[in-house]
Amino acid sequence: MVDSTDEDSPACGSCGELVASSSDQRVVTSLEEGEAAYEYFCSDDCLEVWETTNTA
Ligand SMILES: [Zn+2]
Repeated sequence: MVDSTDEDSPACGSCGELVASSSDQRVVTSLEEGEAAYEYFCSDDCLEVWETTNTA
């Protein structure tokens, strides 16, 4: 049985695509309740969308 939660294959925080399949991936570190959280994006465009929706 294979564990499907593969830490080496994060999904884009915006569109859900596997970031590993993109050559233009971005990683953003954010703080959530005092803990570092990593957000992965497949492209600048997706990062931009995420930043827009996460900025009041
Ligand atoms: Zn994406």
